[in-house]
Amino acid sequence: KKITIALDGFSSTGKSTLAKQLAKELGYVYVDTGAMYRGITYYAMQHDLVSENHLNKEGLIKELPLISLKFNFNEGLGFAEMYVNGENVEQQIRTIEVSRLVSKVAEISEVRAKLVEQQQAMGKDKGVVMDGRDIGTVVFPDAELKLFMTASSVTRAQRRYDELIEKGQQVSFEEVLQNVEERDYIDTHRDDSPLVKADDAIEIDNSSMSKQEQFDVVITLVKE
Ligand code: C5P
Repeated sequence: KKITIALDGFSSTGKSTLAKQLAKELGYVYVDTGAMYRGITYYAMQHDLVSENHLNKEGLIKELPLISLKFNFNEGLGFAEMYVNGENVEQQIRTIEVSRLVSKVAEISEVRAKLVEQQQAMGKDKGVVMDGRDIGTVVFPDAELKLFMTASSVTRAQRRYDELIEKGQQVSFEEVLQNVEERDYIDTHRDDSPLVKADDAIEIDNSSMSKQEQFDVVITLVKE
């Protein structure tokens, strides 16, 4: 029987790696909800609605109906890429610039309402692994399995830093650590759907777990 797996937790805790492994193993659909918030943020940057020192909240709310977000599965990559109004923005949404602004955009209730509705529609047939911040609390409070991923901020920053360097981006470790800690703060302190562990979620601290160890722990939980 297919279930819904809600995978929440802090930035760069390896949620997407785990979610991809689970989806592949179980034949489930993987939905990266962070990519959706990043997609809206990318649009807002392109339309001068957000930058380091301004956010045109009313302007962005007005334009929300004009923003179409779609995931298209890429066979070669083995996961779905994010499209904003028909443009493949998978590369653009992973930059440090988008990471710096996304939490500000994700604080807007109207943005959250739009995305939560789409996420609920995508998961209505079960057989889905959804990763984000509010999946077990808001999007699918009835999910059969809820996981809450944590790891120390230094461990997480190191992982994110290695990824960005590998992609050829010019960043310093300090800058990445600061971004991780800033996003933690905003994500846990916003009024609408702050990042909290659902009461019935299982917490997994993977600071000293390999990807394989983590996968083994979780697949056992799924099969229970
Ligand atoms: O998971 P990822 O790091 O790509 O998410 C980017 C940002 O999007 C998070 O820091 C958070 O501010 C926001 N987000 C959210 N709710 C979700 C997923 C992401 O607020 N379900």
